[in-house]
Amino acid sequence: MRTIVITGAASGIGLACVRVLAAQGHRVISVDLRKADVDGDLSVPEGRRAVLSRIEDVSGRRIDAVVACAGLSTGDPADIIAVNFFGATELISGLRPMLAQAKAPRALAISSEALILSGDADVVDACLAADEPSARAAAGRAAPGAVYPASKLALSRWVKREAVKSEWAGAGILLNAIAPGVVRTPMTASLLGSAEGLATLNETTPMRLGKPAEPEELALLVRFLAGPENSFILGQTIFCDGGAEATLRPEQV
Ligand code: NAD
Repeated sequence: MRTIVITGAASGIGLACVRVLAAQGHRVISVDLRKADVDGDLSVPEGRRAVLSRIEDVSGRRIDAVVACAGLSTGDPADIIAVNFFGATELISGLRPMLAQAKAPRALAISSEALILSGDADVVDACLAADEPSARAAAGRAAPGAVYPASKLALSRWVKREAVKSEWAGAGILLNAIAPGVVRTPMTASLLGSAEGLATLNETTPMRLGKPAEPEELALLVRFLAGPENSFILGQTIFCDGGAEATLRPEQV
């Protein structure tokens, strides 16, 4: 039995991960705004600190994996950056000392296929400089459609940059990301429910299999990447997107 921390665990992909991992007999420590083992707000530094401290208490300082799934795609642009980038990276980093004690530690961030769209460069740069106030300000100035892609591009670049360092790879912690395409969750419900929304989705995230993924389909990949079966994938963003990335940038490998 492994102990696995999952954020965004009250809904969508995170909830599917809880179900799939718990069904395998693992102990899940769920994190979300409410209705979780650890309730807390990952959009603010003090909320992240409180969540980390609660996870230490609840876990007895023993965890094997973390899956940072909490995310936002609409609302205040500054909050999108705060949750999607700083909420994920600070939580994963904050758990690193505990992960380093585990036998087969794994860390996973849920990024997005949207990272290949035109994300705002100032937002990406400020995120990667770990400058949250500047990133929040840049998000406020950016074109609305450029904020979510920027948060996910920065997240996947952070994963690649960090994963190979001695603190992660050198400590045997395999850090990766998953980039889902369209997944049927509360996040996409209104888009999937209207002809106009579907047209937008098919432009930014073409569904070559003619349908969105169910959250469980992502959870199975999470189970593999967060488990000891993944013993050599490191620093990667794995696209699980029904062909969207292959459609939009066929020449890039
Ligand atoms: P969802 O809206 O169903 O679930 C997101 C969860 O994150 C919610 O339970 C929410 O309460 C939690 N959350 C939001 N802000 C938070 C905060 N400040 N503190 C703590 N928790 C917070 O969405 P989903 O579709 O399951 O998305 C999960 C992840 O997958 C997100 O990171 C999203 O960007 C990513 N993603 C989703 C899709 C998709 O099509 N659904 C595609 C690509 C990537």
